[in-house]
Amino acid sequence: MHQFIDGGFREGRGDEAKRINPATGETAETIRYASIEDVDQAVAAAARAFSGWSRLAPAERSQAIHKLAAELELRAGELAAVESAQTGKAIRLAKEFDVPGTVDNASFFAGAARQLQGLAAGEYGAGGTSMIRREPIGVVGSIAPWNYPLQMAAWKILPAIAAGNTIVLKPSELTPGTSLLFAEAAKAAGIPDGVINIVTGPGRGAGEHLVTHPDVAMTSFTGSTAVGRRIMELASRSAKRVHLELGGKAPFVVFDDADVDAAAHGAVAGAIINGGQDCTAATRAYIQRPLFDAFTARVTELMDQVVVGDPTDDDTDLGSLISHAHRDKVAGFVERARGYGARVLAGGAAPGGELAAGAYYRPTLVVDAAQDSEIVQDEVFGPVLTALPFDTDDEGLALANDTPYGLAASAWTRDLERSLRASAEIQAGCVWINDHIPIVSELPHGGYKASGFGKDMSAYSFEEYTNIKHVMLGRDGSTHKAWQDTVFR
Ligand code: NAD
Repeated sequence: MHQFIDGGFREGRGDEAKRINPATGETAETIRYASIEDVDQAVAAAARAFSGWSRLAPAERSQAIHKLAAELELRAGELAAVESAQTGKAIRLAKEFDVPGTVDNASFFAGAARQLQGLAAGEYGAGGTSMIRREPIGVVGSIAPWNYPLQMAAWKILPAIAAGNTIVLKPSELTPGTSLLFAEAAKAAGIPDGVINIVTGPGRGAGEHLVTHPDVAMTSFTGSTAVGRRIMELASRSAKRVHLELGGKAPFVVFDDADVDAAAHGAVAGAIINGGQDCTAATRAYIQRPLFDAFTARVTELMDQVVVGDPTDDDTDLGSLISHAHRDKVAGFVERARGYGARVLAGGAAPGGELAAGAYYRPTLVVDAAQDSEIVQDEVFGPVLTALPFDTDDEGLALANDTPYGLAASAWTRDLERSLRASAEIQAGCVWINDHIPIVSELPHGGYKASGFGKDMSAYSFEEYTNIKHVMLGRDGSTHKAWQDTVFR
């Protein structure tokens, strides 16, 4: 059953497709996608549920989301296993990052639901005052990618429903499993039918229909920049609100006073996390020249130690990539870089032997690729790090900003002045100093430039999912007398 509509699971009535296990190349299951009518029914269910859910007291929504957090925790083992099986990611990452992060997100938004408030300036006239209402928008249509299916479902669903909206989520057609388990947990938690709906299918069918649907008030999308542009175009036809979390190409800037060993560890962890299929993954290392050789040597050594293997094994550091086609795309970037003179110091190949049938790729370090080459400029979305040297601080920061993306970045230095300068001058929604990757529910995640706009997580996400209404309260006609007299005596 691959659709969750109006509180019930059912099979879709659209096309049939096989889902492949990326770690083995074998067919894992056959899915019936949502038809256009299925999407219509999900939107209608969400629209019906809106009036009840949006009018609940914040405390009641909060209690329901607290129960959801508990139900998710009860399913932790199953969620981790499905997340790993469908994406190919190492089970350890699913157990220690994806699932606890999702439970924490639910706990956070259960609390945050009670903190929604508007700020108003005080009195405006004799006895008159203003108040600000923060109101939910209506039915939110969300579209999510395959890299962190569970966390993406959580990031989309939780702030939307905490603020009183209802939602129809379309996960990636490659990885629907944990979004459906999320819905099952919501049902068990007593979240009313229709508040959360999941429709599974490809972007061009179910996805575009959801974006253009007249009863969907807002589109919240996480995925590639190319599809984000298309979604913005489609949404512009009905002038609906759009929230876009798009691609990234995070720079990793190491200044000459940094702890080179710590930086090398951070770079390898930041580059291989989730197979590098992370929009904030460390992708472009810029190393101040005195540290360049030491840094690249240490990264090479550490990358060679990464355990690539069966995702179900707790000792695996790096499982398979999402698909064979995607692995070939990643390998293509590296091959073409070799062709134009770049050197590959670590990895640069798929492992053979027992892993030959899966979509695996070794952690890879590429040097001598020009700043304007595709491997440095474009999103590779694999476990591939490029490294280039720089001389002055000005140059390092300019290189960091020299791509169309602006999602995340890190700077490595023990100097306060450099830390402050890097955090101010790097154009990205998140700048880590002496770290790379950590996220917490309380703090916002979102892009600059071609990485999109709007925020996931944190109380800032309520800016996306609420309308602000100004209500001006006059005691009687006399409150307005002065300005009315200006217009009409
Ligand atoms: P994608 O853009 O190909 O697909 C994302 C989702 O959009 C999928 O559900 C897909 O079915 C749907 N889709 C595709 N075409 C569509 C269309 N025309 N209309 C409506 N929906 C459509 O991205 P992906 O390959 O699934 O994920 C990888 C991308 O996601 C990378 O670029 C990555 O950087 C980005 N990403 C960004 C963030 C972030 O927070 N900024 C987080 C995770 C992933």
